[in-house]
Amino acid sequence: MHLVQQKENLISHLKQEGYLKSKPVESSFRKIPREHFLHASMREHAYSDHPLPIGSGQTISAPHMVAIMTELLEPKPTDRVLEIGTGSGYQAAILSGLVKKIYTLEFYPELASQARANLRKTGLKNVEVIPADGSKGLPEHVPYDKIIVTCSIPPEVFQSLGKQLKEGGIIIAPVGEPYGVQMLTTGRRARGPLKKQEHFPCVFVPLRTNV
Ligand code: SAH
Repeated sequence: MHLVQQKENLISHLKQEGYLKSKPVESSFRKIPREHFLHASMREHAYSDHPLPIGSGQTISAPHMVAIMTELLEPKPTDRVLEIGTGSGYQAAILSGLVKKIYTLEFYPELASQARANLRKTGLKNVEVIPADGSKGLPEHVPYDKIIVTCSIPPEVFQSLGKQLKEGGIIIAPVGEPYGVQMLTTGRRARGPLKKQEHFPCVFVPLRTNV
């Protein structure tokens, strides 16, 4: 079956399961070719709903997870977004047409350059890939409307990243022990501490740190 047809089947599945909820997010899934974010040997699996290896022991998230996290982030055309964990660049690409600007941090320099190439090939210009340890966020461009973390972080990192949000801003992250089960958690900054909401258990690769 042709990739275009496979993509439509995946989109129908994600809608049916309630992962894709809004029209703009659905259009973004249609517009962004996931095969651009995979090695040639993986491309035939681009539209299966699974995480896939992207090198350096890391993975591109499963499409349903990208759909869920994108919807929970409530993307707006005026949003400036910080992403921790660029990986392939696919999540940033899905957000690209839904927000104004994305700064995305990747720990592994070789993944960062690969992601940059993937985004360029897809013609996306509002995503800035920065090879750096994102465990302390990105103070240079604070505050952000939204923060999305695609590697697992402990609760204290969730709280400290939340401080880089604008009033009313949203952070989403898998929160918990590395190599254990995490809770997909959102936090909204509302005068002081984050208003936290736990969604469901999930497993992401852990946050790396230089220390
Ligand atoms: N959003 C990605 C999924 C990436 S998996 C995509 O759409 O493909 C998580 C990524 O987080 C990995 O690439 C990993 O290298 C990165 N990561 C882990 N620790 C990090 C850190 N401290 N700072 C920045 N990125 C980190």
